[in-house]
Amino acid sequence: MTTTPVRVRFCPSPTGNPHVGLVRTALFNWAFARHHGGTYVFRIEDTDLARSTEESYQALLEVMRWLGLDWDEGPEVGGPHGPYRQSERMDVYREIAAKLLDAGHAYHCYCSQGELAARREAARGAGRPSGYDGRCRTLTAQEVAAYQAEGRSPILRFRMPDAPITFTDLVRGELTFTPENVPDYGIVRANGDPLYTLVNPVDDALMEITHVLRGEDLLSSTPRQIALYRAMAEVGVVRDHVPHFGHLPYVLGEGTKKLSKRDPESSLNLYRERGFLPAGLLNYLALLGWSIAEDRDIFTLEEMVAAFDIAAVNANPARFDLKKCEAVNAVHIREHLSAEDFVAACEPWLRAPHAPWKPEAFDPAAFAALAPLAQTRVTVLSDIADNVDFLFLDEPVHDEKSWSKAMKPGAAEVLAAIRAALTELDAWTAERLKEAVQAAGEAHGLKLGKAQAPLRVAVTGRTVGLPLFESLEVLGRPRTLERVDAALGRLAEAAGTSA
Ligand code: GLU
Ligand code: ZN
Repeated sequence: MTTTPVRVRFCPSPTGNPHVGLVRTALFNWAFARHHGGTYVFRIEDTDLARSTEESYQALLEVMRWLGLDWDEGPEVGGPHGPYRQSERMDVYREIAAKLLDAGHAYHCYCSQGELAARREAARGAGRPSGYDGRCRTLTAQEVAAYQAEGRSPILRFRMPDAPITFTDLVRGELTFTPENVPDYGIVRANGDPLYTLVNPVDDALMEITHVLRGEDLLSSTPRQIALYRAMAEVGVVRDHVPHFGHLPYVLGEGTKKLSKRDPESSLNLYRERGFLPAGLLNYLALLGWSIAEDRDIFTLEEMVAAFDIAAVNANPARFDLKKCEAVNAVHIREHLSAEDFVAACEPWLRAPHAPWKPEAFDPAAFAALAPLAQTRVTVLSDIADNVDFLFLDEPVHDEKSWSKAMKPGAAEVLAAIRAALTELDAWTAERLKEAVQAAGEAHGLKLGKAQAPLRVAVTGRTVGLPLFESLEVLGRPRTLERVDAALGRLAEAAGTSA
């Protein structure tokens, strides 16, 4: 057990749209921080100015706020180790790079891309390791002068120690990397721009990060970073400081392919637009590598925080399954929202400009009456519109497939009988409606299910939907009869033309 307070970071690059893999990383770091009463640092890795955009930066902040993954230090919150946007910390990196160069932990490398590529090819051909071969480690003054005379500008390259590097990964256990597999690597571009390889460990050190939890794709950078921490400590930039590392498993999409941020199901916006609840989405993303208990898939964020243990994360790849993600969300809608919260959560989909009906047609009281029945049926909040559109549209949707499925020969007769019964009904309640339809159906030798099918399509336009009689009770007698009449008219017309 460590007594050092836990400090973790989430440090995305603001390029492109927020995606599922990014949020899984954010969630695991956040849950780890909250579980340990630690600090969750949000840092923006935007030193690659060509790829970083303000739009993407704003989208990141926005999506984290929506999800409720609040940060203790970072953009807009501040903190003792700011600024938290790396583009505002360039002086820090420049200074540390200079110290590493002075101390001999880094050196100028003059090799051109072409030369590096040619030597890489040759090494591959000879079956040798194909990484950087250390050529510029020991350039003589004359060699340097010759390169400079040619007008070459060097990159800064970090000198890896000639000994293996071992660390204990919190997910994978002990790992060792030998020098031939971790060649010297660039840390500053020829134009002076610092690279991720430098700025990421520099800030983890300066921000006193204790645990680095990130995707497995970054595993190969860990031995390099450990060497860099040691070098920084040696030149006195930071106290002796190497964080613990835990690499979260890959997320697979279809087949054995890694889920790519370009896959449509990766896009966070999509989940938001479809009406996932943050709690449902985060619950599912937690399952990508972690589980709260055997045979238990559903939990709240608070329960995750209480139980989260990085040592329990599974090193094997996790599979992203959209159907399962939807099913988990449906349970959260059904079981973790009060009726009032469900109504409120649906509002954005029921009011213009999302809604398919005229804005003034929306009737909150009618919706509230049916909402509890819808709450148990929707997977995502955007499903709500199809469930209740019959209430707010002037006419039900026209779905030809549903129509022909329900309006079989004989449908007109049953529907006419139902109409007669409904006209006479003394009380317009779900219960009385059901009795009336049942009786009308029986008179035609039909069970309730068969008898109500044409009625449902006449009134809602669809073959499936909320419980029919409750729906009709809320719709009211005049509008119900109007729609039944319209359907009867259409059936009569069809019979006329086919006769
Ligand atoms: N900015 C890096 C990325 O988005 C952070 C990687 C890390 O966590 O070290 O890939
Ligand atoms: Zn070189």
